[in-house]
Parts: sequence; structure tokens; C-alpha cells
Amino acid sequence: MTIRQLRSRTVYWQQKLNIPEWTITVKLGGLTHKDHVGECIWCAEELTATICLKRGQGEETLIHELLHLVLDGHIPYYGYDLVRERAINRIAKALYLADQNKNADPACAAC
Ligand SMILES: [Zn+2]
Repeated sequence: MTIRQLRSRTVYWQQKLNIPEWTITVKLGGLTHKDHVGECIWCAEELTATICLKRGQGEETLIHELLHLVLDGHIPYYGYDLVRERAINRIAKALYLADQNKNADPACAAC
């Protein structure tokens, strides 16, 4: 996805997740850990967030980072939690697939 597409999908998912109060900046690159595919850095007081995505990452990773705002945006960053990351991955995948299936034509067996 291009940065333009990612920003467009950010607006879409921000509405779907009902987090309109956040001012979100999305960037390609700029990750602080080279083994991460995405990072979300937020300020709970100002309701601002910067999401950095590794090039080649798509909507599912974007949803994952936005879910951090839904689940954790009210508190300062607490550090890496593997179990929580895996749970967010599962939710992000489910949301992504449900959204993809919504767009499929139910009359088309090949969809
Ligand atoms: Zn995460």
C-alpha cells in the first residue's frame, strides 16, 4: 500500500473503531526497533498518535496499531507485552477479514 492509501484507510478505520478524537499521523519507516513491522506512539493527554509502518506492511498492521489507541490510549506506553501483542494481532486479523468479506459479492462463488 502507498502512504496515501494507508492514510485513507486510517481515516476509514478511525471511524470504524470510533476513535475520532485522536489526531493520527501515519508514516512509512521511522520505527525505533528494526524487528518491528509497526509502532504506535501516543500521547494520552493530547490525544495524538504517530503510527510508523515498515514498508510493505498493509491494512492489517495499520488496524493493529490503531487498536493500541482503543485499548491502551488512555494510559502511557507500558512496554512490550507479547501476549497482548498476539491478542491484538488476532483482533486485527478478524476485523480485517470481516471488512474484506463485507466487500465480497455474496452471489459470486469465486469471491
Ligand atoms: Zn502492537
